[in-house]
Amino acid sequence: MRLIIMGPPGAGKGTQAEALAERIGGAHISTGDIFRANVKDQTALGRTAQRYMDAGEYVPDEVTNGMVKERISHDDAESFILDGYPRTVDQVDRLDTMLAELGRPLDVVLALVVDPEELIGRLLKRAETSGRADDTEEVIRHRQEVYSAETAPLLEIYSERGLLREVDGMGDVDEIAERIDRALEAPEAVDAPPPAGTVEA
Ligand code: AMP
Repeated sequence: MRLIIMGPPGAGKGTQAEALAERIGGAHISTGDIFRANVKDQTALGRTAQRYMDAGEYVPDEVTNGMVKERISHDDAESFILDGYPRTVDQVDRLDTMLAELGRPLDVVLALVVDPEELIGRLLKRAETSGRADDTEEVIRHRQEVYSAETAPLLEIYSERGLLREVDGMGDVDEIAERIDRALEAPEAVDAPPPAGTVEA
């Protein structure tokens, strides 16, 4: 199974993606985690990414796309969960090309839906323990704005393709995981357009 998990910063993508990758036996590919590992190791990629991350901005597409292309072509990525990628329309296009070349089409795009006020609260709480430079209140608010402007529009793109399945991201971790499993078991996307020839009531 090949899927993308989407949702605004603080929606719980990382936690759910990690657990789901274990359940489906696929690779958990988190661009944020890969960037943070490179920052920690002070690689050239990490040095480039760091100033964008610290400011709550997106790392330029050409850097991010190249990194994902390298990671997603590994043998262990026959099944995968992409967490935090794609985040821009250009990244969607580039991902389409990569997956077409690899012959690994997407099955589902999961979107975690969380109340915006709850998000800020969650991130401020995470800030107390995460040690992440981008977990200050100002940067947290900026990251939400960048998400709304750059990434929220991608939901429409995947919805039009019939791949999007929205999952309520409020509640405890296990409850949300169960909702994700149910959404994945559904025979078809819950918000997929009706099959041709049907008339909506
Ligand atoms: P995350 O852990 O997914 O919240 O990502 C942390 C930071 O890494 C983001 O605020 C961006 O600066 C950067 N980043 C992660 N994924 C991407 C992406 N797909 N495109 C651009 N920047 C990204």
